[in-house]
Amino acid sequence: MTPHDLTHIGIHVFERGWLSSNNILCIGANNASIVDTGYVDHAEQTMALVQHALRERALDHIVNTHLHSDHCGGNARLQEAHPNVHTRVPAPSLTAVRNWDTARLTFERTGQECPRFAANASYGSGDTLWLGDRQWEVHAAPGHDPEAMLIFEPQSRTLLSADALWENGLGVIFPELDGEPSFEAAEATIDLIASLNPAVVIPGHGALFSDVAAAIARARRRIDSWAHAPDAHYAYGLKVLVKYKLLSAQRITVAALSEWANQTAYLTALAPTARRIFGLENVPTGSPADISDTMAAITAALVRSGAARTEGDWVINVS
Ligand SMILES: [Zn+2]
Repeated sequence: MTPHDLTHIGIHVFERGWLSSNNILCIGANNASIVDTGYVDHAEQTMALVQHALRERALDHIVNTHLHSDHCGGNARLQEAHPNVHTRVPAPSLTAVRNWDTARLTFERTGQECPRFAANASYGSGDTLWLGDRQWEVHAAPGHDPEAMLIFEPQSRTLLSADALWENGLGVIFPELDGEPSFEAAEATIDLIASLNPAVVIPGHGALFSDVAAAIARARRRIDSWAHAPDAHYAYGLKVLVKYKLLSAQRITVAALSEWANQTAYLTALAPTARRIFGLENVPTGSPADISDTMAAITAALVRSGAARTEGDWVINVS
């Protein structure tokens, strides 16, 4: 048993990667629950991991920390396999799920996919949830996503932080990309995490960690630098959206990438900002709607940071 193995308290962590969020399966005497289910591309893999750990027993609950496509893309597949599973989503997101309001849910705007799933109930700040044999607290965690929740088990001091805190940073502060000031909210969520004083954090992506103070300090510095230089955050957000597409496609032609970008509201809305950030203001465009040179600049930035490479007409993911 490694210091980071939590199976002795019924917590099974499936560390996935960046396309799919981690999945946390809590197995107790009377309750088997999963928190977050990964991206749709990996739904069969999520199923296999869950079935292997559950053996013959049924999954009782699905809980999503927030409804980004990489955290709830396996819900539909698990619901199909476990027809009696009860699914809870953050309270502010419930109506959007029930109506499958794609304008409110973020999948369309990010150019990502998520198969429709059902939600039985909501949960929110101040609630307690039984996951496995343990009772967990719920705390609102705005910043990365205004509707996200933190889930905390006070006895073992285990925190499910989703994308509010990773070992090395945190997720894009998405509302900022819409012009909604949210760096302060992200900072307040970090304050809240510090006050919970977790012994171990299971993040939405990457390995779980117990040097929480160092991770908190890194996240604070990151938020602070974004707040002082919002263009750096815009650039990070743009690169994350395109990198995510590459993670899913693995390889894509420049033309197909531009076509996808043209359908992706975040990228089209941010095209003027991107032109300014990447120094394209004085480069003539074919038409105001043409974002191919913006995409070329974002791709070049990904290549420079080692996250992608190009080969003729192809853009290829480098993991
Ligand atoms: Zn997220």
